[in-house]
Amino acid sequence: MIDTSALFSLEDSHGSGAYGKRPTALARGAGVYVWDVDGNRYLDATSGQGVAALGHCHPAVTEAITAQAGTLVTAHESFYNDRRAELYSMLSSIMPADLTRFFLCNSGAEANEGALKIAKLLTGRSGIVAAKRSFHGRTTGALSLTWTQKYRKPFQEWLPDVQHVTFNDIEAARAAIDEHTAAVVVEAIQGEGGVHPASAAYLQALRQRCDQTGTMLVLDEIQTGFGRTGRWFGFQHAGILPDIISLGKAIGGGLPMGAVCWRAAHGPIARASHGSTFGGNPLVCAAAIATVSTINSLGLVAKARENGAWFREQLQAANLRGAREIRGEGLMIGLELRGRVTPVLKALQERGILALPAGLTTLRLLPPLIITREQLGTVAAAIREVLA
Ligand code: PLP
Repeated sequence: MIDTSALFSLEDSHGSGAYGKRPTALARGAGVYVWDVDGNRYLDATSGQGVAALGHCHPAVTEAITAQAGTLVTAHESFYNDRRAELYSMLSSIMPADLTRFFLCNSGAEANEGALKIAKLLTGRSGIVAAKRSFHGRTTGALSLTWTQKYRKPFQEWLPDVQHVTFNDIEAARAAIDEHTAAVVVEAIQGEGGVHPASAAYLQALRQRCDQTGTMLVLDEIQTGFGRTGRWFGFQHAGILPDIISLGKAIGGGLPMGAVCWRAAHGPIARASHGSTFGGNPLVCAAAIATVSTINSLGLVAKARENGAWFREQLQAANLRGAREIRGEGLMIGLELRGRVTPVLKALQERGILALPAGLTTLRLLPPLIITREQLGTVAAAIREVLA
């Protein structure tokens, strides 16, 4: 029997203090469920912050990690490696057009740092345009792009030359982007900012303005990528092709991984201009191969689209008194509440459902893409009960 209060006290005394924690200690997971140390089961509609697209401990991923752990775990990119080559080939097969150059790293923020450097290297410029209400990570470069004041305020030195413009405002973006701009960085659906989709017209206008000015269009697909929105990538809803995309979360099947992907037409970057000790190690590559190939073979991208639409219909039809609006695409869903989200999260957890906030008043659901309609029905019923 695990002593929960001793466990909480150890984490609280030695952890950074940077995280607001729920009083729940998770011990194991299988499929869409996780269990706490006392054996209580929860349906994980957070996917561990958008990571577990295949749910927890999917056998394909577990087997790939186990086999690779006994074969070769580390192999720096200064050597070639069979798993890494296979991953490049697999990622290239799901990417549209010539989005087939990759830099592999270890997290979403690191992918955005890489995307910024690559945009600057490819253009020889320094200006960056990002969107208000955006979230791109917490390292210094990524935080310079992030809008939310809560994350920015305690720190003072930012990358110079970053402008924030109102999201989905085409004229503001046109005015801000010029021949000095290296990159425009935008989320296909703002996740942390409250599940706000970019309109197709907005992304198309960004593409057009970037073409006019020779600017790199960077799509942050860290939360929206790998089927989450019912397409492999969120930008595909708008029928555009970015120059660079940043990837993270679901790509590694739960192991830490990020990636920058850019158009082959732009060519490789200069030797030694970027690097990472752990990036592209065979262990995470094996997990990523298993993850991406299973998303593909189970048809989870189409399932996310269909099940997500069905789920949103259920919520719309329920006429929830506690919700003003339901937003999102596929299985990236936001409910704008009439009040604070924290008590709603608590009430859902009491009913065995783990969900996420996105700001103070948005309830965010990012369930595993393997979730069934029956399981989604359980989530909808709990939400109905709490928000009726
Ligand atoms: N970009 C987006 C859109 C995100 O949602 C996140 C994380 O939530 C990040 C970047 C940062 O990723 P990480 O926490 O892996 O650094």
